[in-house]
Amino acid sequence: MKKLLIVSLAVLLMTSVFVVGAQANKTASIKPVKVAVVFFDFSNTYLSYMRGGMKAFESSLGPNVSVEYFDSRNDQPTQNDQIDTLIARGFDVIAVNPVDPKAASTIIAKAKVRNIPLVFFNRCPDAADILSYDKAWYVGTTPEESGIMQAQMIMNAWKNKPSLDKNKDGKMQYVILKGTPGHPDAEARTKLVVETMQKAGFPTEQLALQPANFKTDDAKNIMETWLGKFGDKIEMVVCNNDAMALGAVEALKSAGYFIGKKYMGVVGINALTTVVPLIKDDIMLGSVLSDPNFEAQAILTIAVNLVRGNEPMSGVKVGKVGTFRDVRMPYFEITKANIDVAEAAYAKTEVK
Ligand code: CA
Repeated sequence: MKKLLIVSLAVLLMTSVFVVGAQANKTASIKPVKVAVVFFDFSNTYLSYMRGGMKAFESSLGPNVSVEYFDSRNDQPTQNDQIDTLIARGFDVIAVNPVDPKAASTIIAKAKVRNIPLVFFNRCPDAADILSYDKAWYVGTTPEESGIMQAQMIMNAWKNKPSLDKNKDGKMQYVILKGTPGHPDAEARTKLVVETMQKAGFPTEQLALQPANFKTDDAKNIMETWLGKFGDKIEMVVCNNDAMALGAVEALKSAGYFIGKKYMGVVGINALTTVVPLIKDDIMLGSVLSDPNFEAQAILTIAVNLVRGNEPMSGVKVGKVGTFRDVRMPYFEITKANIDVAEAAYAKTEVK
């Protein structure tokens, strides 16, 4: 019996030494992971912050992970060629911000042949495309949510600042600067901001709605026209993004607004660094932020997990998985009261 015990102990000891040795060996030879991140266009402001966030996060991905970034220069055929090249170069996983989300099926077909995982981001492909390949994921926001949040911000501002109702009729006269028609963000944000105010029983009167294609110059021109037509009747300028809010503010400044008591409410979406001073100076009422750091972290973490065979969401701190391997990031309402949140978000993602 005693002899048997000693033998068993010896076997046990040998086994543990073997296991410890194997583990040490495994750590030393942890498989390198090559990640490629393809952006639809490096010149896009928000995405350049996201790229900065990714670069800042790279070192947190653990040993033997390398990340390279590529610019599709807003051209889908260029992006398709890039995907071919990246596959040929032996990247283990590709994160793709599609120029055209409809091209996802083409990209998936290329990656699937070589069993390379894909993490789409920022522009959402069809659910059916993502579901057609079990190694495809999506990371982005829910456009509807930004419209709802913008409506809540408007209603709060209205409640806290009675002077916004310039004609004292108890109703908010407003205009909407819409993004590019057909773009999911433009459609969802416009629909939901209006719907949320209506559902809340908030008294409003829409004076005008026009697409300014997410662009500052277009927004400035339209705002000038509206000022000619409606003048100071407008009490709120609702913008689908901050670039257009900047255009509206420019037109308003030229017309003498934001000096003394001459005022008109302006709200945007993105909480870009360029609007932070406007919110601080009580020119814009607020914006809606999607923190580019959270998206950056989720995209890279999921990419590495897919290669290493880990649970894809393991280590992803912010984001909820939807119904088709789509990970949705939260939006945050930004006003003067919490402007430090927007400042902090972009400070970390300095563009290099
Ligand atoms: Ca009014």
